Amino acid sequence: LPEEFKNAQPILTKLESAGYEAYFVGGSVRDTILGKPIHDVDIATSAYPQEVKALFKRTVDTGIEHGTVMVLDHGNGYETTTFRTESGYQDYRRPDEVTFVRQLADDLKRRDFTINALALKQDGTVVDLFHGLDDLAAKIIRAVGDPEARFGEDALRMMRAVRFASQLNFTIEPQTQKAIKDHAPLLSKIAVERIHEEFVKMMIGPAAQRGLSLMIQTKLADYCPGFIGHTIDLSTIATLPHLQMTDEVEVWTLVALHLGLSYQDTVEFLQVWKTANHIIKAVVMALHLTYAQQYHRVKPRLLFDLDPGTIRAGTNVARYSGYGPEDPNQWLEVYDKLPIRNTRELAITGKDLIQGLGMTPGPAIGQTLDQLVDTVLAGEVKNDHAALVAQVIEQQKSANASE
Ligand code: ATP
Ligand code: MG
Repeated sequence: LPEEFKNAQPILTKLESAGYEAYFVGGSVRDTILGKPIHDVDIATSAYPQEVKALFKRTVDTGIEHGTVMVLDHGNGYETTTFRTESGYQDYRRPDEVTFVRQLADDLKRRDFTINALALKQDGTVVDLFHGLDDLAAKIIRAVGDPEARFGEDALRMMRAVRFASQLNFTIEPQTQKAIKDHAPLLSKIAVERIHEEFVKMMIGPAAQRGLSLMIQTKLADYCPGFIGHTIDLSTIATLPHLQMTDEVEVWTLVALHLGLSYQDTVEFLQVWKTANHIIKAVVMALHLTYAQQYHRVKPRLLFDLDPGTIRAGTNVARYSGYGPEDPNQWLEVYDKLPIRNTRELAITGKDLIQGLGMTPGPAIGQTLDQLVDTVLAGEVKNDHAALVAQVIEQQKSANASE
């Protein structure tokens, strides 16, 4: 068992000694069997939430209405969820009712895919009621039970299917894929934030091209914000030979580039996707660099206006798209060698301009500093106080002469 499971074993032992059943479940079991590293360990138990709370000193009610209690142990938190069934799904997303049950089988039955419906006992035995182990070996994503019914209950599962197809580089079993195609319009019932989360995870996955192709084939893409009418652009992304994105900024920069969006349209598009403002800002910056590379116009001033993160993203996106520099660090190295990387690094301040050079406070101060940044970046003047003062005096003289 991996370290993360070993650390959590005392919790299972305690539940079992009190007469309850307890298992590791969910993604950590799947990923361990695949030999992948795991992040969070989920525990499922026959104990009801109040029974879990009675057993452990330190717990947090992280989702008690769904049966989830976080058990704190040696600085770690373990989500411990009571076996449950779900019913209702009036809104195609959240079940109307959660019922706690004592049978593991009932809990596994409500899970989305066979590879996610495995339970691991402390002693290492795996409970596999739906041939999830076979599907893991064959690299198949298959709905538990009737796929048509399962996507009708919860439309987000369709995005989860393509996300796992990319993350694990698995195929989707034909009946499951057909059911996704049949239910794709239901995706419009799902909160954009949830689609966003799955879409970004899918695009960051190692088989993003496969995930995106599946979204196009099943028409899921048509029910995502701003993608309708862009099938060809999305297909272009899905056929890029080297795609290994590392963060959300890269994902959206690549999408905006291939959708041919202007900066303003990019902002609006990302707002519809409910993207965080700091991400939108970073994408627009990265997009400037990507477009500049396309037209071979990367100037020091542009790099100055960016930061290492957006330079990396903009460079990577250009590289994925076939026109970035061979060396992924090329622009970062140019950036590192800039004489200044921030207006505050100028060897002269607004205060110097006002107090030392008699300029009037106002917008002219900012403009003058900005011009000085340009001259320093162009290598015309050294970033040296005396040299910059001389430059300002020179500018004032020629301005007076032309009046
Ligand atoms: P990850 O590695 O991304 O955490 P995961 O499989 O653990 O993947 P979670 O969202 O953490 O995904 O969910 C944990 C488990 O809960 C899943 O493995 C699955 O068994 C079940 N599950 C999650 N979301 C759904 C859903 N929408 N419908 C049915 N079962 C779900
Ligand atoms: Mg998980």
